[in-house]
Amino acid sequence: MNTSVLVINCGSSSIKYALIDSDPNASRLAGLAERLGSSEACLKGNTSSGKRFTQTLPNADHAEALKAILERLEGRVPGAVGHRIVHGGEHFTQAAMIDDHVIDAIEATAALAPLHNPANLAGIAATQDVFPDLPQVAVFDTAFHQTLPPRAYRYALPEALYTEYGIRRYGFHGTSHAYVSQRAATLSNRGAGGWLTAHLGNGCSTSAIWNNQSLDTSMGLTPLEGLVMGTRSGDVDPGLHAHLHRQLNWSLDEIDNVLNKQSGLLGLSGLTNDMREVEDQALAGHKGAKLALEVFCYRIAKSLAALSCALPQLDGIIFTGGIGENSPTVRRNVLALLPHFRFSVDDVANEATIRGKEGKVDNADHHGPEVWVIPTDEEGRIAMETRHCVETSE
Ligand code: AMP
Repeated sequence: MNTSVLVINCGSSSIKYALIDSDPNASRLAGLAERLGSSEACLKGNTSSGKRFTQTLPNADHAEALKAILERLEGRVPGAVGHRIVHGGEHFTQAAMIDDHVIDAIEATAALAPLHNPANLAGIAATQDVFPDLPQVAVFDTAFHQTLPPRAYRYALPEALYTEYGIRRYGFHGTSHAYVSQRAATLSNRGAGGWLTAHLGNGCSTSAIWNNQSLDTSMGLTPLEGLVMGTRSGDVDPGLHAHLHRQLNWSLDEIDNVLNKQSGLLGLSGLTNDMREVEDQALAGHKGAKLALEVFCYRIAKSLAALSCALPQLDGIIFTGGIGENSPTVRRNVLALLPHFRFSVDDVANEATIRGKEGKVDNADHHGPEVWVIPTDEEGRIAMETRHCVETSE
């Protein structure tokens, strides 16, 4: 097949795209169409010479935005399209060529991801209109975690809720956890042993990976479970929902909105969901920001310690995502809370590893588990899985 893959990540009002060649040295054309459906809709991206562009697309819908994206591919024609699909339920353990059955299965899973799957499906439909002859592949955020054993994926709820309604833990950020753990296995002398991964961005999750297989992860039925995130609460007492309803008369939508959009770093700091600002304000002595940073790091450490139970041995930990890649402070604070794991951080390397740098940030002469910072490449991983899926189906 033609080796370049157009990776598409459709949200309800946005399309993130990247045209990725199989040659890792070839330049990537990438960008984001956002605020679709509004008068402020626009497309931003880069050219192959590295220049940035912004194009206004007033009131454009997904199909119009895709046509504008196509014109920005500088005449390069992709050989396939890879779609990031948030929820694949139990149907998908790996990427799948998109056909009517796959679309039906993604639709059937929409109840588990009501914000994401319908937008992903709209993206598939619009892309099929624009590229009717290209193979299209669905790559699922949940698929990598389909190796979780029952002890990790079952909630302690009546069995019928699982067997009849699919209520179980699925996990997300699968392409990121898969990419960074396989990259660490390649770079480190330890190989594919036992790795803990911390994807820390606007959404945050941890994972325990043994021999390239996910054995446990912090997100669950939805991406709300687990760590403190930009605006998401992560774990709360499951009794909280009933309490808020009974005591404050909040509706389900209000509760959902508060836990997903007004909590996390934003809720704790009272200021912002942006970790850069939280760190700056914490340094300046802002009480809310200090607390937000403290709770954020403590909950990551607690989650990593818990996930270590899934691994027969611990070879190392990997930080990734906007915060994991760029915040020496968060990495240092998290590791300081795990002294019994015998990590040994090289402070100079830790401070210097930011802005897309990949590297090991522990002291080379110690014998404990390693500490890596690996910039994630979800688009690159989706392109790789898309290519593999097309080639094996030919
Ligand atoms: P992502 O969702 O992976 O793009 O990550 C977004 C998060 O990364 C936001 O909370 C940003 O504040 C955070 N981030 C980006 N750069 C830095 C930095 N230099 N220091 C701390 N956090 C950062």
